Amino acid sequence: MAEIEKTEAANEQISSNFIHTIIDKDLESQTYGGRVYTRFPPEPNGYLHIGHAKSICLNFSTAQKYNGKCNLRFDDTNPVKEDTEYVESIEADVKWLGFQWDKLFFASDYFDKMYECAITLIKKGKAYVCDLSAEEIKQHRGTLTEPGKESPYRNRTALENLELFENMKKGVYQDGEKVLRAKIDMSSPNINMRDPVIYRITHAEHHNTGDKWCIYPMYDYAHPIEDAIEGITHSICTLEFEDHRPLYDWVLRELEWNEPPQQIEFARLNLTNTVMSKRYLKALVDNRNVESWDDPRMPTIAGLRRRGFTPEAIRDFCERIGVSKANSMVDIALLEHCIREDLKDKVDSRMVVMNPLKVVITNYPEGIDELVEIENSKEDETKGTRRVHFSRELYVERDDFMEIPEKKYFRLYPGNEVRFKGAYFITCQDMVKDENGTVIELRCTYDPSTRSGSGFDARKVKGTIHWVDAKTAEKITIRAYSYLMIEDENGENILNPDSMRTFEAFAEPALKDAKPGERYQFFRHGYYIADELLTNDNDKVFNQIVDLKSSWKK
Ligand code: ATP
Ligand code: MG
Repeated sequence: MAEIEKTEAANEQISSNFIHTIIDKDLESQTYGGRVYTRFPPEPNGYLHIGHAKSICLNFSTAQKYNGKCNLRFDDTNPVKEDTEYVESIEADVKWLGFQWDKLFFASDYFDKMYECAITLIKKGKAYVCDLSAEEIKQHRGTLTEPGKESPYRNRTALENLELFENMKKGVYQDGEKVLRAKIDMSSPNINMRDPVIYRITHAEHHNTGDKWCIYPMYDYAHPIEDAIEGITHSICTLEFEDHRPLYDWVLRELEWNEPPQQIEFARLNLTNTVMSKRYLKALVDNRNVESWDDPRMPTIAGLRRRGFTPEAIRDFCERIGVSKANSMVDIALLEHCIREDLKDKVDSRMVVMNPLKVVITNYPEGIDELVEIENSKEDETKGTRRVHFSRELYVERDDFMEIPEKKYFRLYPGNEVRFKGAYFITCQDMVKDENGTVIELRCTYDPSTRSGSGFDARKVKGTIHWVDAKTAEKITIRAYSYLMIEDENGENILNPDSMRTFEAFAEPALKDAKPGERYQFFRHGYYIADELLTNDNDKVFNQIVDLKSSWKK
């Protein structure tokens, strides 16, 4: 419920775009009787990715903006690649993003109607059964500069075509033996109009219709009919379908549909360091390059969710990138910026030491365990405070110490004083090295009068560092990520061989109670989420969502 309210609030800021301009004109001219009806039509052949999120936000928000409706339609006209696992994940992802469809449909529910429409076209002399092989059809098609050649089967009579098409349906022929083609224009400058195939034979079990059909409609023929059956007004799709629009319009014109929907194309989302093709992502899963579709490195909605992204951040991102007619590349830093912005004042902060170096406070009494009070959020006072153990033996980050400090290094080095977050001012006095010369322990002193909250402010220190108490520290597992895709020297995306690093870290005891799905800021490190699947009473596994620093330039 809270999620839905958020969506409506987010919606108020939906900026206008060229699609809304088209809709405004349609409303003014009373085309479609003032109705606005969109749909999101995924093919259930994989999990949705961040590119689909753009389409989801666009379709659902547009409907909301105009008090219209938006359907979720599974475009399941290809029996071979589709699966109910994908259907379920897609429904879950759309809901998680905060949207609710008006109606849910399967394109395969319209197979009967599509068959009837094909009969209508055949009777009108607008479709024919062709015996050319796929290869021959390709050879006949011509090129951008040369017209195509007509098929020798093009002038079969309607009666003959009806019988052959009936036989195609009955299963008389093998896959590829015959196809049904639209009879349009073999010399059209638009190759999509050169008698495109509209039905093919595929003897395969369909996830919805089982073995009822062995002929399946092609996308370009099926899609306009699906839209028209549902009363869609604005059929929004990506730019690569621009050249297919004449065929979309042809199908509905020849079928004499009233108030046919109109197809509008927008530029798909491209993101740096990201490959967005279900086929490619499926290969990553199948080849075990990643653990699963919801591996936190995946650009899938399920992966982003497990990584710790929020629906609010993803919607904000989709809003900021806007909608246009020109393809472009979006910097993934913008997506990271959006999640930081969203989590900034939502989550509590905790101290975690990832690469520990031991600190002994030599003038702190042994056997004493003191509690210091630390605020839960720097951004939001109302989040209150928590009490954290402080004692003689602590851990700090190894890179918060330098034996010989660089210029402007304000953290620990021999003789320097720093603030230990929420506790005391501490001076590094000396260090202990092992036989290889590696520093393994810092010997420090504290100034008891500098206790945080005591009002002490007599001298300024430049560095504040985090720490954990050695005895009460909780061991947690961190999964730190870098991009799954990186660029090689030619600017090509390749798989990053080093996209995940798993290691143990020391956390303050409060994280012992972290529940799966809880997000935190790890002070000075970044945002983290307790992994949904791997976190339980005994094990705390945290996924890095994003680091603190932004490389996003406005
Ligand atoms: P993929 O190539 O990743 O499988 P697709 O376009 O084949 O993507 P569909 O399931 O057909 O996937 O897509 C459903 C809807 O999502 C379509 O309307 C499609 O245009 C849109 N969509 C897919 N990828 C993107 C993207 N990168 N940016 C914006 N919209 C997209
Ligand atoms: Mg597709």
